[in-house]
Amino acid sequence: MGSRTVTAKQREVQRIVDALHRAIAQHRLPPGTRLIEAQIVETLQANRNHVQAALQRLALQKVVTIEANRGAMVAQPTAKEARDVFSARRAIERAIVESITPAIMRKQRQRVATHMNNERNATDHTDRRAIVRELSEFHLMLGAICDNSVLSDILGNLMVRSSLIVALYQRNDVPSCASNEHQQIITALENGDREKAVAVMIEHLEELEGQLVLESAAPAEFNLKQALSE
Ligand SMILES: [Zn+2]
Repeated sequence: MGSRTVTAKQREVQRIVDALHRAIAQHRLPPGTRLIEAQIVETLQANRNHVQAALQRLALQKVVTIEANRGAMVAQPTAKEARDVFSARRAIERAIVESITPAIMRKQRQRVATHMNNERNATDHTDRRAIVRELSEFHLMLGAICDNSVLSDILGNLMVRSSLIVALYQRNDVPSCASNEHQQIITALENGDREKAVAVMIEHLEELEGQLVLESAAPAEFNLKQALSE
């Protein structure tokens, strides 16, 4: 097998992983959803081996659970795991915010402005999926601009797991990030006040965790084909 073949396969597996990540992050595939291989093959026009490889990668990321006799399903993080994910986010996002210098903010001015604009547009409207996407995108954007790909890779995984946790444990229907706190973090970073930016971020994450009811879980009904074809 030549390296070109390997690359094509890797790209294809990544495409399937990305499609499932998106559907999970945007709450189209709730925790506990059975991921039926044949349906994924059909909906994503993918090869069965690639789908299996993608599901295994997602299982390693703790986003999917694979059971010998039941196949794959979207993971259902326990309350303990939910607390652990938020505790890890506080550590990782603190490190991310601490590494964003005023010079980075100047260099990334356009990207940050575009994001904040998208976020405001989304929260001004009632498209819940767009709101969920943009609010989570804020955290991923900070990870992307902090110039540390290890931190941003870890955050990517934590954010998908956070989406599962929010889908499982958030009882009210209020979008989970307050946009004005995001703006406060950006303003502090632009002013070079990283201490303030860290303080607001930690408070923000504690507030998010505080919105969760970490006692009960009730997976919703859903349609796998519909969720993936949107
Ligand atoms: Zn947020």
